[in-house]
This record gives sequence, structure tokens and C-alpha cells, in this order.
Amino acid sequence: MSAASAQDDAVPATTVPASTGRATTGPASQGVTLTGPALSGLALARGEVDRAAHLRADADWLKAAWTDPATRVIVVERGQALCELTDQHAALAFVAPGEAPDGVRFLLGVESDGLAYFGVAGPLPEQPGPGVRPAYLREAGPLLSDRDAGLLTHAVALANWHETFTHCPRCGSPTDPIASGHSRKCPVDGSEHFPRVDPAMIVLVTDPADRALLARNAQWPERRVSILAGFVEAGESAEQAVAREVAEETGITVRAVTYLGSQPWPMPQSLMLGFRAAAANTDINVDADEIAEANWYSRDELAAAIAAGIIRLPPPVSIAHRIIETWYGSELPGSW
Ligand SMILES: [Zn+2]
Repeated sequence: MSAASAQDDAVPATTVPASTGRATTGPASQGVTLTGPALSGLALARGEVDRAAHLRADADWLKAAWTDPATRVIVVERGQALCELTDQHAALAFVAPGEAPDGVRFLLGVESDGLAYFGVAGPLPEQPGPGVRPAYLREAGPLLSDRDAGLLTHAVALANWHETFTHCPRCGSPTDPIASGHSRKCPVDGSEHFPRVDPAMIVLVTDPADRALLARNAQWPERRVSILAGFVEAGESAEQAVAREVAEETGITVRAVTYLGSQPWPMPQSLMLGFRAAAANTDINVDADEIAEANWYSRDELAAAIAAGIIRLPPPVSIAHRIIETWYGSELPGSW
């Protein structure tokens, strides 16, 4: 994965000395230092409902909650859930436990008044009712309330995992959901398996003139650009991945790295870790396999290129969009 979706807030970096051997005040690796934090209000990083992990193994409580008709259930099928949706607003369309289809069930959480929320990975109703239709997280996420955005992100992430990771990686036997759908256990060798989350870093690189580095992935259509992104490799820290991906894709060396915040991106199973980084050089040398083109943009140049239709930014639901907007200083159109 390279230049991808995103958002952010810039924070002044307090740099610690790099490469001083053992890390004390912060990790130092390959000349990169990590400082932070600062991005908030990301569309898919919201939530109000207590996940109530202590109840996931409480069989009596779970049974009582599932027989309570007030309990609310989100049905998820291939990444979609039923929503009431307009251009400006979305709300989850819950069903009662008795109306939920068969499928893997997971406890999403409990409100302070005791109201319980579950998810079920199963078929959506064929006739969802007036004003209600299936929607993907990417579409509905930004329009949902904090509560519903958190519930749907949680539900989609678990449903995606249960749909895919059905067998034991050790012996190949089918596994069973346990912990109210938050892990799976192999009945043959007893091993327990947890939802897979793939960490990916996404970074806005700026040069000494505070220009932003935007790139177009070779797989993308003309005009689509974003900041650089890539998966964290095995045995690698997120900030090491920042330095490696930026160097591989554009030939730019980064120094001070600032952590901005993260957003789950369960499409199907990523966690986007947002960063800013300062470039030590400005000569771009793109990796033609992954990146078709990359350029520096001043704020004026970016605004002009968008207005002229020369480039298009990722959608506001992405952390990429928010990171770019925060650097820019005000809202920008996103149109993927
Ligand atoms: Zn097994």
C-alpha cells in the first residue's frame, strides 16, 4: 500500500537526540525521533459506548441481555449495515435480538443505563423498510453520531474478521467464537486467536519551506493524490516504517517524526497511524513501481491545483484528508 487515505493536526515537535544508543525519553532509530501527539475527531475514531469487556464471558448476563427486547443489534454483511441515510446525516437502523439473523454474535458494549448493543455477522434483511438501506462504513461513517460511528466501526471490524479467519492457523481445524465474539478458539489444540489488525502508517512530509509532499499511486486514476502510506512490516516500529516507506517511494529522507493520532480502517482490517515528518532533502526520486508521480505543494499551489481540477484529494472520512487539511489550515474538498 502506498499513498492512501487520511487526516491531522500539526504539533510542535520536541526532538530528542537521535541515535544515542538506548532510548530513554523516546525511541530513536536510524536518525528518526518520535514526538507527539495531536489529531482528534477522526470520523472512525469516535465512540461513546463502554465496550464492557468484563461481560464478554458472563454467560448469565449475555443470555439475559439477548432475551431483552430493548437490546439493539447491528447486522453486518460484507462490510455493510442498515442505516437511515441522507446527505447530511446517518443513523444506524438497529433490530431487536428476535429479529436478528443467524450468524456470529458479538457484544459491542453497554450504555450507562444498561442498554446493550450487539453485532451479528449475517444476512441483511431483504426488505429493510422505508428510508433505510445498506451502507458501507466509508459512506455512513462521517455522517453518524459519535455513538453510532463507534458501534459500526467496531461491528464491521469484528464481522470482517469472523468472515475471513475461520480456521486455526496451527492445525487447520474450524475455530469457535468465544469471549462474545472477540476471539476464537481451536477445539482441537486449544489455541486462542484474536482479531487481526494490520498497522499502517500514513505521513505528511513537509520540506523546509513547509510545502507538502503529495503522490499518486501507480494504481490510481489520473489526478488522484494523497500523502504517503504503507504497512508496517514485521519486526518494524511505526516510525521506522515512516522513514522506510518515504525513502523507498520518493527518495526523501525524513528526520523529526511527529505522531498525530490513529484511526481504525477496517476495510478490511487496517489501523492507520498518522504522522508528520520533516524532510532532510527535497529532490524527489519516485519508485516507479508504486508511485506514478510525487510533487511538493505550497498551500497556494495546492488550492490552485484543486480549483483547476488538476488534482483530487482523498475523502473527508480518511485520516489522510484530515492530515492535509490541518497542514493547510482550513477545510478542503475531498472527492474520491
Ligand atoms: Zn488448532
